Amino acid sequence: MRRPRTRYSAFELLRRGATATPWPRVWRSPDLRSTADVVVIGGGVHGLAAAYYLAANHGITDVAVLDKGYIGGGGSGRNTAIIRSNYLTPEGVRFYDRSVQLYERLATELNFNVMFSQRGHMTLAHSDSSLRTMRWRAEVNKLQGVDSEVVDPAEVKRLAPPLDVSTAARYPILGALYHPPGGIIRHDAVVWGYGRAADAHGVRIHQHTEVTGVTVADGRVRGVTTTQGEIAAPIVVNCTAGWSTLVSDMAGVRLPVTTFPLQAAVTEPVRPFLPTVIVSGTLHVYLSQTDRGELVFGASVDPFASYSTRGSLAFTEGLAGHVLQLMPSLSQLRLLRQWAGLCDMTPDFSPIMGVTPVEGFLVDVGWGTYGFKAGPVAGETMAELIATGKTPELIADFDLARFTDGRLVGEKGAAAVGH
Ligand SMILES: Cc1cc2nc3c(=O)[nH]c(=O)nc-3n(C[C@H](O)[C@H](O)[C@H](O)COP(=O)(O)OP(=O)(O)OC[C@H]3O[C@@H](n4cnc5c(N)ncnc54)[C@H](O)[C@@H]3O)c2cc1C
Repeated sequence: MRRPRTRYSAFELLRRGATATPWPRVWRSPDLRSTADVVVIGGGVHGLAAAYYLAANHGITDVAVLDKGYIGGGGSGRNTAIIRSNYLTPEGVRFYDRSVQLYERLATELNFNVMFSQRGHMTLAHSDSSLRTMRWRAEVNKLQGVDSEVVDPAEVKRLAPPLDVSTAARYPILGALYHPPGGIIRHDAVVWGYGRAADAHGVRIHQHTEVTGVTVADGRVRGVTTTQGEIAAPIVVNCTAGWSTLVSDMAGVRLPVTTFPLQAAVTEPVRPFLPTVIVSGTLHVYLSQTDRGELVFGASVDPFASYSTRGSLAFTEGLAGHVLQLMPSLSQLRLLRQWAGLCDMTPDFSPIMGVTPVEGFLVDVGWGTYGFKAGPVAGETMAELIATGKTPELIADFDLARFTDGRLVGEKGAAAVGH
């Protein structure tokens, strides 16, 4: 049953302040029940969004979301929060565009300020061949109704004044793919917003509950074993990103996924001076400025498969060199922190979504370095698949069977660095 939702409003703030009424817990800590209609493994944006849309769109509320740590403790709380839909393949563009649309109305839908700032996203081209790829992407984007265009260096400078667009730069900027709807968001708020809204619909969120086994009998899933007890369920969804192969192996489902660490770093806050998100695939770097003024930097994944989430000096050295090639004026800025998360990379840089050979065991994985932006659309479509038993057209091309049928959705040209 749906619980009354506390509204976050100025009036409520004043009322609670004046009457010393504490805010209720944002989500409950329920006891583990022995059955559920749906078990979702993973309390990141994907697991929570799937649970929310199951309840909100389809009235399926007997849902348990299990996380071995705390919600948002995986990639969902470690990413650099870039949202965009200017991908390379029509399948990718259509899919991510739906997510941007859902993000645009998410704050209102969840009654939670997710701080979505559509400040524009620019992917720089430093060579004729990357300029050709930008033109290709712009055409694919336009055909799908997504706002993208190639701009010249003068326009690049107008959109992002601190960039060095001179021909004397070591990697001169020849142009860029400009995508006005792209931007950044507050990743924690998205996780908390979905968690709170799912809980309000009756979904049970169990933190510190690790899945240690997936029970399968006669070709179909029967439930899960956890560190807190067993749950029998006809549907189990694997939303564990960097850990997804470990969980799928428990069900006997092999995934073509390799886990790599991805690092990021943030500087001390300075006055706002960078209005857009900047990506350079050639230099393996991207950056944006948060509303608080910090610069957030990222790169491509570490060059080895691992489950380690430690930062490395090699990363910061490479990052600093490449950033200074783009913006020499940042040389005195100090880095405050660096961190890493785990990325579940697929051979074609597209996700794996939908059914598996084990009936009732579904996957929503393969999110690599780019899956935060897909949280809403992935949740919406996975919920529809569970509720109707039919795979929505938007995700049909991302099925697991494509790797045996040879139908890859090659997205590397738009997903390798620019998350
Ligand atoms: C540094 C960095 C920068 C990134 N930048 C961007 C970006 O700018 N834009 C973008 O779109 N994407 C970005 N990404 C990728 C994005 O963060 C991920 O693709 C996305 O968060 C995946 O979300 P998820 O919900 O599938 O998984 P996660 O958020 O990783 O959640 C998975 C959860 O599963 C839980 N879990 C694992 N095993 C078990 C188990 N056995 N039992 C129970 N629970 C378990 C984990 O504790 C975890 O909380 C970035 C990633 C990193 C690391």
